[in-house]
Amino acid sequence: MPTLQTVIDILERQGAEQYGSEPVSQLAHALQSAALAEQAGSRPELIAAALLHDIGHLVDNKFQVGQDNPVDRHHENIGSAYLKLAMPPAVTEPIRLHVPAKRYLCWADAAYFGGLSQASVRSLELQGGVFDEAEARTFIEQPYAEDAVALRRWDDLAKVPDAETPPLAHFIPYVEQSMKAAQTV
Ligand code: FE
Repeated sequence: MPTLQTVIDILERQGAEQYGSEPVSQLAHALQSAALAEQAGSRPELIAAALLHDIGHLVDNKFQVGQDNPVDRHHENIGSAYLKLAMPPAVTEPIRLHVPAKRYLCWADAAYFGGLSQASVRSLELQGGVFDEAEARTFIEQPYAEDAVALRRWDDLAKVPDAETPPLAHFIPYVEQSMKAAQTV
């Protein structure tokens, strides 16, 4: 069961690992994502989701750090299933849907595909490729799909080497608040 402290430990200890072949660490990527969510005026749960959206990579001991993984291990499902034990759907569902959101955006926004990093284009095929119209419409009707699309756009922007962000401690209250909300549901 993830506690606030275990989530902090995971981000601090394993977060120094490189984010696949991207030029940022996992922690820097998480902080940049959360900072973009905060700047957009998002709810606390969505800021927490942005911070934790790739935790599936860090709790998955078969994930190979520092390189593109040849097999899709579905980190979105690993991460959301792990966090579900302590966090509400407003956190876990945007995380679970942030990979299909990329497949959706490639269908919905012609400019989006052109902005993807090379690693992200490569992983798109492993993730099932661009949605067709029926898949896209089914996707966007799901609860939290719009949040997942917003999260996805921050995710794609959060790969800037040496970007200035607030420290992890700044974002922990959003995680704490989300955990408290889950306990009262
Ligand atoms: Fe990410």
